Amino acid sequence: MRNRLTQCLLPPLLASLPLAPVAWSQPPENAPKEEPTQPVQVRDEGTGVIDPPTMASVEAADTASGESEDSEAPAVIELPEDESVEDIAAESQNSPAGEDAPASSDDMVAPSDAADIPDGNTVTGDREGSVEVIPETRPAQAKPFPLLSGEVLPGTTARLAWSPGIQIAGLSQPTPVLVVNGDKPGPVLCMTGAVHGDELNGIEIIRRVIYELDPEALSGTVVGIPIVNLQGFQQGSRYLADRRDLNRYFPGSEDGSLAHRIAHSLFEQVILNCDMLVDIHTGSLKRTNLPQLRADMDNPDVVELSKGFDSMVVVHSSGGSGMLRKAATEAGIPAVTMEVGESMRIQEAHIDAGVNSLISLMEKQGMTARLFQWGAPEPVYYQSHWIRANQGGILFSDVKLGAYVTEGTVLGTVSDPITNEQSDIRADADGRIIGMAVDQVVMAGFAAYHLGSRAETEEEVE
Ligand SMILES: [Zn+2]
Repeated sequence: MRNRLTQCLLPPLLASLPLAPVAWSQPPENAPKEEPTQPVQVRDEGTGVIDPPTMASVEAADTASGESEDSEAPAVIELPEDESVEDIAAESQNSPAGEDAPASSDDMVAPSDAADIPDGNTVTGDREGSVEVIPETRPAQAKPFPLLSGEVLPGTTARLAWSPGIQIAGLSQPTPVLVVNGDKPGPVLCMTGAVHGDELNGIEIIRRVIYELDPEALSGTVVGIPIVNLQGFQQGSRYLADRRDLNRYFPGSEDGSLAHRIAHSLFEQVILNCDMLVDIHTGSLKRTNLPQLRADMDNPDVVELSKGFDSMVVVHSSGGSGMLRKAATEAGIPAVTMEVGESMRIQEAHIDAGVNSLISLMEKQGMTARLFQWGAPEPVYYQSHWIRANQGGILFSDVKLGAYVTEGTVLGTVSDPITNEQSDIRADADGRIIGMAVDQVVMAGFAAYHLGSRAETEEEVE
């Protein structure tokens, strides 16, 4: 893949953060024949032209280095229906859950050198995203894709901007929305990343998928919002500025809390324009996840969507109230959550798995031509449950993420640092470790290992 040759992971994307709508140019072979000589011009809300936009970047990957690949990882998210994320948050942080829960990390993400993002196209438009790009070709059957008060012509790409309108106007920072509108008609696939601001793998997955697409060869439209929670991202925090978890407030409301309003804005302005949604997360709170989908297997449309991801593990979860995927599905837009690794880190192998499964999805949806088989053609369905620590102490794992275990296998040991009392945590069934806690101090009852049991068919997943 061309992008794998790119050494810098996040800078090209991050460089775009504070931008108002612009279009990015494709790699040379796809670039418009006439390159404008003037830099990008963007008209700010009633204040005139900003030229060129200010670039900002954040060095994320380096701050997360120095850790072994799978040994530690705050992980995220939606858990099987018998256990809410709030439970996990409360367990591992011994703190109030839900909207009052503290941020999982105070580590700041440091600024770094910005990489230039190609932006040679001349565009004009209003802040909310109107973009005019001259396409090389405009097939009769393809239509312009309207989004964020703008329109992306067939066979072109654009970088739009979404502004939830909750900040001080003069200081507001629009969130980049990347769009590739294909030359041929087809479905609209949306991808969201960093709804939790400290979850980095999804940001890179979306960058690779989006920038690898050739709009002239695409049927349909792909929309990527790499960093939904821009505030949290800039602070290395899972949460919004008011410490709420955005992924508990969808579809949001116009006159509710800050989180409600942000959720409402994203949902109305972007999500409702999608035909299907993949919301990318990582493990949270020092847990890591094998690349996997969380999908409501009771919904036939979601089941069908899940079949497109090739060999990725699929775990049934109906999703908690306020989750983006649940809200989208209830609005008639089949959605899944993709869980990839742990927060605060860039994990190449996990990212590859996520990218490959999304490429597979686009092929299965008839959006792109299938180049070759990535592996097993069908996803693997799992039922799952958590295995907990029986005593408090320091957790040391004996297994690695993705390991296949049998009933009775010692997964890890908890040692009491004061009494030296030790107890093993054993697998209570045959299965695979699809999620696990990193080594850390735990309390009795702490959910330490997420054990998946293979189901023969998706119908068997409960
Ligand atoms: Zn998340």
